[in-house]
Amino acid sequence: MVEFKGGLRMDKQKRSVGIISGKGGVGKTSLTASLTNLTKDDLEINSIVLDCDVDAPNLALILPVESNEQVETIDTYTTLKATFIEDKCVHCKQCIDEKFCEFHALKWDEENQIPEVDYLACEGCGACKVLCPEHAFTINTVKSGEMIHYLSDIGVPLIYGKTRLGSTTSGKLVSDVKEFASKIDNFDNYNLILIDGPPGIGCPVIATVSGLDFIIAITEPTPSGLHDLIRAIEVVQQFKIPFGIVINKYDLKSPFQDQFKKFIDDTGYNILGRIPYDLAIPKAMSFAKTVVEHAPDSKASLAIKEIYNNLKNLLWNDTTQ
Ligand code: SF4
Ligand code: SF4
Repeated sequence: MVEFKGGLRMDKQKRSVGIISGKGGVGKTSLTASLTNLTKDDLEINSIVLDCDVDAPNLALILPVESNEQVETIDTYTTLKATFIEDKCVHCKQCIDEKFCEFHALKWDEENQIPEVDYLACEGCGACKVLCPEHAFTINTVKSGEMIHYLSDIGVPLIYGKTRLGSTTSGKLVSDVKEFASKIDNFDNYNLILIDGPPGIGCPVIATVSGLDFIIAITEPTPSGLHDLIRAIEVVQQFKIPFGIVINKYDLKSPFQDQFKKFIDDTGYNILGRIPYDLAIPKAMSFAKTVVEHAPDSKASLAIKEIYNNLKNLLWNDTTQ
């Protein structure tokens, strides 16, 4: 019997790995892209990569579509919004005077003597529909985002979600992206699914990590980096998912280093690897390339290759057996 986890089908050899950070801007996407790039020359690995940072997906910038390949786009409709039906309105202004809308999404149009729905502010709660005596509001699903699927220029399929401005269902879109991935052609042949997760600890992160086999939590030795790492680890521990930490810019000269090191030593958390501060990374980014491709012998690339090998050992020989 086939087992599904969080929208991803599992079998004995398949592993799903999420890369999260708690804090944005610590190198999550560039690490995901580099790890993906390393899979392409690894005969043991057949990978796909997902970008579940659906509010700001940018993995596609580093892993663009292979020329002549088709890009598949699927619209998603999960967000609820109010629609005003002018014909039914008797202009009583009750919806405004009695503050039907807790989200301040109803404004009064003085000229036409009708309410206006502010699309971005509307949460689709349905209160206006229930309270208007003339039934002048309906609640409808509207386009909330897109899922995009293509073969990237390194030969690895990429699937990502993109929320529409004003959408309130980022977490649902993450689940949809994972579900969609589990149904692509030849999914059974892929043994590694890498997922670039969203920053933070909210609904999209929870939707990303649920059902995964392993989490990489990337951070940097700064006060905000540590603060947000702790929060991200709390989420992962709720799900009892094994995790490893990657310390980016581990050699950053900072008065906070001692405190950071003490935290890591005291917790005994598994350190998957340390990436040094290396200008090769921003240089590679300026060419929209992964550092392992653009500067394969750089200090950062060598560190990421070590992380990749450590990850493989953990995935197939250790914690997830
Ligand atoms: S929408 Fe309903 S409550 Fe608001 S003015 Fe029209 S009839 Fe009155
Ligand atoms: S559905 Fe809810 S949030 Fe939207 S306008 Fe109506 S009351 Fe406001």
